Amino acid sequence: MKISPVEQLYTLFNETSMALQEELDCTFLEALAETGENLFHGSIIQEELSELTVKRLKKQYEEINLEQYSKEDIRKAYQLVILKGMKENVQPNHQMTPDSVGMLVGYLVEKFVKQPSFRLLDPAVGTGNLLTTVLNQQLHKKIESIGIEIDDILIKLAYISSNLQQHPVQLFNQDSLLPLFIDAVDAVISDLPVGYYPNDVTSASFELKAKEGHTYSHHLFIEQSIRHTKPEGYLFFIIPNGLFESEQAPELHEFLKKNSNIQGILQLPLSMFKDKNAAKSILILQKKGNEIQAPKQVLLAQLPTISNAVEMDRILRKIDEWIKENKG
Ligand code: SAM
Repeated sequence: MKISPVEQLYTLFNETSMALQEELDCTFLEALAETGENLFHGSIIQEELSELTVKRLKKQYEEINLEQYSKEDIRKAYQLVILKGMKENVQPNHQMTPDSVGMLVGYLVEKFVKQPSFRLLDPAVGTGNLLTTVLNQQLHKKIESIGIEIDDILIKLAYISSNLQQHPVQLFNQDSLLPLFIDAVDAVISDLPVGYYPNDVTSASFELKAKEGHTYSHHLFIEQSIRHTKPEGYLFFIIPNGLFESEQAPELHEFLKKNSNIQGILQLPLSMFKDKNAAKSILILQKKGNEIQAPKQVLLAQLPTISNAVEMDRILRKIDEWIKENKG
């Protein structure tokens, strides 16, 4: 039986991570980052390994030439191994953005952002899966991308993933709601962390700070992203379905009306979410600028499951028509 390229890479990442995990006495995800470093550098960088493990790793690395695999094969295999590692220690706010969502965001970025070269930011880059899924779809465009992430293991995974896929991403390991030392970007993509942001001192510098108690971090992320986007730039957020229904929603709505034009809200299929209350949508915004006008009509759609090809085709055509009518 023929083994697919993704399976070959999965086996390599998985087995070498297990060997390193055992010997370095670390978590599986830390070991995955180590094996990724080795593959990227083309040598074994850990000094504390036994001769036997070094020999075994060398043999496995030599069997695979990464140059022969597509960026998407590398991303998919790496993503599957991360999913395995995440099962070891589950953290609900660290969930990777699934492929189907990444593909759609990639499609939208491709359609909305027309410049041949642009700057793209993901302020909650996590493992980099959403960012690299989107990058892999922007053929013939030159993109300077920036990722920010508070968790040091996740950003390491994002760094390895970008290296293996040969995407020159600038990564910052910091709280995205603190001042960002980056130039304004043309577009933002982000699967927003949802919940309360604990640091009220930082929230105080935001227009969207709650009158009482903690502010929603997803609201602050939206404000921070708009601040760092150029006028007329686009923003694509994965948001909770109830975004406009919470007690802090009226202020968010006012803020969005003042600073942006809502382009569309695409609801992801409920079947994607175990808990229906955690279901999400894609919110598309355009930051206000001198030239732009609000769309005649906001693009609203309920997305089908990715396996429903006929319905998916209908929705993609609806999106294309909407773009032709509103974005000329
Ligand atoms: N798109 C990512 C991927 O494909 O792996 C997943 C994003 S996940 C839903 C949200 C991310 O936001 C988590 O990785 C979390 O650690 C990060 N995060 C939460 N609060 C943050 C903050 N204040 N600054 C930076 N990152 C933060």
